[in-house]
Amino acid sequence: MTDKPRISIVAPLYNERESFNPLIQRLNTLMDSLPYPVEVVLVDDGSRDNTADLIRLTALTDSRYHGVLLARNFGHQTAVTAGMAAARGTEAVLIIDGDLQDPPELLTDFYEHIKNGYDVVYAVRRKRKENVFKRFAYSTFYRILKNISYVDIPLDSGDFSMVSRRVIDLMNQMPEESRFLRGMRSWIGFTQIGVSYERSERVAGTPKYSFRMLRQLAYNGIFNFSEFPVKFIIRTGALVTGIALVYLLQTLFKKFMFGTVPQGFTALLFVIVLFSGIQLVALGIIGEYVLRIFFQVKGRPLFVVKEEIVEQRTVNREQRTTISEQ
Ligand code: UDP
Ligand code: MG
Repeated sequence: MTDKPRISIVAPLYNERESFNPLIQRLNTLMDSLPYPVEVVLVDDGSRDNTADLIRLTALTDSRYHGVLLARNFGHQTAVTAGMAAARGTEAVLIIDGDLQDPPELLTDFYEHIKNGYDVVYAVRRKRKENVFKRFAYSTFYRILKNISYVDIPLDSGDFSMVSRRVIDLMNQMPEESRFLRGMRSWIGFTQIGVSYERSERVAGTPKYSFRMLRQLAYNGIFNFSEFPVKFIIRTGALVTGIALVYLLQTLFKKFMFGTVPQGFTALLFVIVLFSGIQLVALGIIGEYVLRIFFQVKGRPLFVVKEEIVEQRTVNREQRTTISEQ
């Protein structure tokens, strides 16, 4: 590729051997139809199958492909972060999943909005072709997050989006360790627009996001983009103190008026157990913040690149570990 790519498509891949060929075919057809140069940044997130070899081969034979191989599995959000750091697109970056659940052909629609001055074009899922439990969990999570977040994170929008070069530069400068990209993207501001689409089924293979990973993502959204957990402790504390005071007054009243003090061993036990529980939850919430501070202050690089293939050549990127060094 002689011209600098105008748009980069970033796709993170983790054990995507089965969906690799369909992905490349769809992307080739798309790129062939476009009049401007586009690069595809394929990030291998420490796959255990031969995904890394497939990426290497593709990037070595086709200059439109740019391979970034991470040193281990860092997780989807970090893999996308690594792809965003490597992307050279001068005008915009399109972020898609590697399993073709996000149709890459929407690139042209999204790019129209970018040309019209929008900085972020995010996709809003109209329909999800996933099981009922997953759909319910997602929908509940987005609605809770919307209510408690101090950033206006649009409902049912994921990472599938196109962002302008200046937004990519800003996101690349954000040093936060536990990344929740859709929140960071919303936090930046500028003019953002949602485009609805129907999310397809995975083209091949099985989902790579485990329940644990999804829970972690949800935690990152809640703890990094909301003060609610801490406020919840304060409110619960205030409420409990209020109840205790009322109870005390009631007891004193009874004692002086009727000379009886209520007995109740079971009630006492119940109250102790209940409030021990609340205290542990409160400690856990504080612990969650301490843990996040702990990981952040270590200031470790967000990811480690093992190998990068650009312009059909393998480049030695020992230095390329942090995103801020770029
Ligand atoms: N992925 C990744 N690292 C991981 C898990 C997933 O790069 O640790 C990639 C995966 O290969 C896919 C995308 O992230 O391209 C979305 O994953 P998946 O399809 O499993 O998520 P779902 O669509 O079920 O939310
Ligand atoms: Mg998927």
